[in-house]
Amino acid sequence: MWNKNVETFLGCDASFEDADIVIFGAPFDSTTSYRPGTRFASRTMRAESFGLETYSPYLDRDIEEVNVFDGGDLELPFGNTSKVLDIIKAAAKKILDSRKLPCMIGGEHLVTLGSIEAAFEKYPDLHVIQFDAHTDLRDEYLGEKLSHATVMRRIWDLLGDGRISQFGIRSGERSEFIWAKEHTNLNKYNFEGLEETILTLKGRPIYFSLDLDVLDPSVFPGTGTPEAGGVEFIELLNAVYKVMQLDIVGMDINELSPVYDPTGASTAVACKMLREMLLAYRKK
Ligand code: MN
Ligand code: MN
Repeated sequence: MWNKNVETFLGCDASFEDADIVIFGAPFDSTTSYRPGTRFASRTMRAESFGLETYSPYLDRDIEEVNVFDGGDLELPFGNTSKVLDIIKAAAKKILDSRKLPCMIGGEHLVTLGSIEAAFEKYPDLHVIQFDAHTDLRDEYLGEKLSHATVMRRIWDLLGDGRISQFGIRSGERSEFIWAKEHTNLNKYNFEGLEETILTLKGRPIYFSLDLDVLDPSVFPGTGTPEAGGVEFIELLNAVYKVMQLDIVGMDINELSPVYDPTGASTAVACKMLREMLLAYRKK
């Protein structure tokens, strides 16, 4: 017998009803400032995930033990940024309303805003943890309020002071770093200070946003704005495990650009990181 050709990430084949986690792709890269291509990330990750084991020796846990539904990619009108964010918000809301964890594959980092809008509606005391090379705190970029360079600033517009914790940051304008001192918990270069932050966030609803360019370009060159001086894979993995101990209510992984990944190595990194995020999640 032949089955229908339905491609999911890494054998994530639970039904929507049974799932604790719902994956969806947000293939949008229209505001990318330097090199676009992240719109191809989710489909490439699904295809390449067949090269990855479903079992994690780190966690001694298998994808088969976790209920994950992969809902495919959203259909997004590339020319209409605010409509794109509305569509993402509606998708995340549907998942949250069904008491499941939304897990979005970007896309450029701006897609996070739509997902966080939905999470914030449901959890008014939401806190955001961002791993990223970049501050993403500009108030506007080339005259645009909505850009992957402004995404955390727009999230601050919603959440206010002290609700965004940033790690791995090593690029931005001086004014953004000065602004961050008053308004966010910005940690440069690596994950120093993460354990302290986690202690203060115990019991709070957390949205975790992983911009993969937090990794060093030697580990993860397949991205639109590579930034030297980043963290190693294992360093990131251990930091992700720490974050996943918190009360995660939404998460995303973004900024893989398969166009700049001729060897497929960066896609393999992204797939493995996502597998570990799925396996480390514990439904509260
Ligand atoms: Mn970013
Ligand atoms: Mn970045």
